Amino acid sequence: MCGIVGYIGENNCVPVLINGLKRLEYRGYDSAGIGILIDNHPLVIKNKGKVSELQSKIEKLKLSSPIGIGHTRWATHGEPNEINAHPHCNGDKSLFLIHNGIIENFETLKKGLQQLGYTFLSETDSEVLVHLIDSFLKRGNNLFKSVRMALTEVEGTYGIAVVYEGEPDKIVAARKGSPLVIGIGDNEHFIASDVSAIIAHTSQVVYLDDGELVEVYKDHFCAKTIADADIEKEVFEITTTLEEIDRGGYPHFMLKEIIEQPESVFNSMRGRILLEQGTAKLGGLELVADRLANSKRIIISACGTSWHAALVGEYMFEQFARIPTEVEYASEFRYRNPIVGSEDAIFFISQSGETADTLAALKEAKNRGALSLGICNVVGSTIARESQAGVYIHAGPEIGVASTKAFTSQLVVLALITLLIARKKTMSLVDGKNIALELEKIPEKIKQILKLNEHIENIAEEFKNATNFLYLGRGYNFPVALEGALKLKEISYIHAEGYPAAEMKHGPIALIDKNMPAIFIAPKDSTYDKIISNIQEVKARKGRIIAVASESDDTIDKLVDYTIKIPDTIRMLMPILSVIPLQLLAYHIAVKKGLNVDQPRNLAKSVTVE
Ligand code: GLU
Repeated sequence: MCGIVGYIGENNCVPVLINGLKRLEYRGYDSAGIGILIDNHPLVIKNKGKVSELQSKIEKLKLSSPIGIGHTRWATHGEPNEINAHPHCNGDKSLFLIHNGIIENFETLKKGLQQLGYTFLSETDSEVLVHLIDSFLKRGNNLFKSVRMALTEVEGTYGIAVVYEGEPDKIVAARKGSPLVIGIGDNEHFIASDVSAIIAHTSQVVYLDDGELVEVYKDHFCAKTIADADIEKEVFEITTTLEEIDRGGYPHFMLKEIIEQPESVFNSMRGRILLEQGTAKLGGLELVADRLANSKRIIISACGTSWHAALVGEYMFEQFARIPTEVEYASEFRYRNPIVGSEDAIFFISQSGETADTLAALKEAKNRGALSLGICNVVGSTIARESQAGVYIHAGPEIGVASTKAFTSQLVVLALITLLIARKKTMSLVDGKNIALELEKIPEKIKQILKLNEHIENIAEEFKNATNFLYLGRGYNFPVALEGALKLKEISYIHAEGYPAAEMKHGPIALIDKNMPAIFIAPKDSTYDKIISNIQEVKARKGRIIAVASESDDTIDKLVDYTIKIPDTIRMLMPILSVIPLQLLAYHIAVKKGLNVDQPRNLAKSVTVE
């Protein structure tokens, strides 16, 4: 998920690696390291924290080497610390490796390697790769073949780079699901997870495709597929600017993160759905799953966007796990002397895992004996460490201040938790399978919604000067209304409110006139007819209406001013789809108003103060 850079040539690789890692910092990371060969002997230097700290450590040593690899880690398995940072070495320290991504079958591979006598130093999934490659080297294979053979046993995603003292003239790199590019220079070659790390040195690049591996020498490279077929790679000339590249070519991180959602939600469910058993496998909850399923009450405590995800979670848990569930603002929970005890399970949701109010609520809950469970994006964050158990959402680093992909990944994780506990209770295998199947279809459906980007941008143009917005939804889509309104407030500074659609006539309807746009989230579900009546009520008062509706619905177009048609799914998963047009709408309105979308005024990404 994070960054890779490598160099082989006639110059000193150390500054190339350090500057490359600095160029990758924008992606967010928690630790960094480099591995080089000094007189053909490996030297690995790494630390928790910033690249600048790594740099000062290295500068003192005045190192020079013609071959090396560097890594910024965004932890997925094992907390961010020096041991878990990459590169990882084999037992005799002749081989070192960096890895981006997740090895799904690492536990099985690790057990097999341990039986062969391999010892593991870190908690990472990545370390299995280096020992697995070593096991093929020890059977007399060369490095390239050893890497290729090892990768045939691996499930999951990877961008890797490996250096071996026995073959000091090459870096072997491979990719599946995590990007990797080779840069071609004059008697030197580079590798990187993203061109921004090497663009200062070359504009000639070769993009590896999934399932390909490459042997990179200073003056040439050879590529093959993991299945051992030879391949010819095309060389591209990069013309974009550095700034554009940082954001993957997108004008803002927020847009990049919205567009990334098919992958980020896929990463949240990767390896966790047991289709045949109609349930979910969540390693972080294994030891407490029975206690959770038998708890008398669930509380979900969070702030901001995570609080909206919590509301969706409440609907899911109550509908399927049949456990009474309450959602609490963390800041309120902690100060109101809550009545909680050992029969309660309390989830704490925080993207950063550092949200001060949520952390304080967690401490309060623990003191009272409740089962405390974290749902965080950042591995090893304080909330993740302080909770008794939990689940990482694996959305990847989120840079834009307004949360987008973390929200949809939180919803995926809440759906997986629902499956896990509901199947332990009364949910049938058939129902479990159906939810699991629908979950698997979500990434494709998000891709379909993202194709509406231009249509949504046109709607934004129409409405960019409105000063108030009303967002309305029912059931599972009521929290989406709140989230849509929050997105608009956060980045466009337009006043917006979210309401359950039926509540409109108890107050907000007084605001409706021709200047007041109302956004209805109105997919075809069991409350569809009711929401159509609410639409009629707004229309009767000349309000302008945008409806997020089912693609199968062709009657709604006549009732509203604009429609955004999205694919159908089961009700509990609809928020993962219906929020995406609202994220895009808020984004485009803010851009059209000339605002700083990624760093909106007065807001911080990780709210570490009360
Ligand atoms: N899964 C690996 C780890 O936790 C790699 C994470 C990354 O992509 O930075 O160490």
